[in-house]
Amino acid sequence: MNDTITIEKQTGKAFVLKKGEILTVSDPQGGQVSDMVLFNEHDFGEKISSGKSLDFEESILLTKGNYLWSNRSRKMAKIVEDTNGRNDFLLAPCSKETFEIMYNYEGYHPSCLDNLSKNLQPFGIETDDIPTAFNIFMNVQFNEQGKLSVLPPTSKAGDYIQFEAQMDLVVCLTACSAEDSNGGTFKPIQYKIGNGFH
Ligand SMILES: [Zn+2]
Repeated sequence: MNDTITIEKQTGKAFVLKKGEILTVSDPQGGQVSDMVLFNEHDFGEKISSGKSLDFEESILLTKGNYLWSNRSRKMAKIVEDTNGRNDFLLAPCSKETFEIMYNYEGYHPSCLDNLSKNLQPFGIETDDIPTAFNIFMNVQFNEQGKLSVLPPTSKAGDYIQFEAQMDLVVCLTACSAEDSNGGTFKPIQYKIGNGFH
């Protein structure tokens, strides 16, 4: 139950998190983003919503004390600890097209959407059902004109964030595959599930 599980670089994992359980997501080497999506375990039509979360939390920077809300305006998870404190909830998971459109990359490139899709498919969740992810450790900056820039994460080795499930969830996490989001190198992500604070 309390074993630490490693998500190897440029991969992902999906699992069930029951109401009241604590999910710890950590950055073992530092400077690595993890995209996270949440679904109601009993009804996949209910899923994490960036729009609802930013609206109800009245912030575009969510951290300790904030809730992640569903498209049906219900609380899905509470952020109970966040040692780094910088996450993004604006940008969609990187996909094959991200690299084509933004970086003129040709051919196959691993991506968060691909890894979310592969790992959620066994649960019966399709690619088009995947919403904007909560991008743990992602460092998106913006100026007064709204111009966005993606900078390397500020997370250091050992930084972690903890979520308390507010309902039974299917969770999918990735170790992000976008060069710019991760300071140019790809690292693993780790997580563990527990019943209390660690
Ligand atoms: Zn990504």
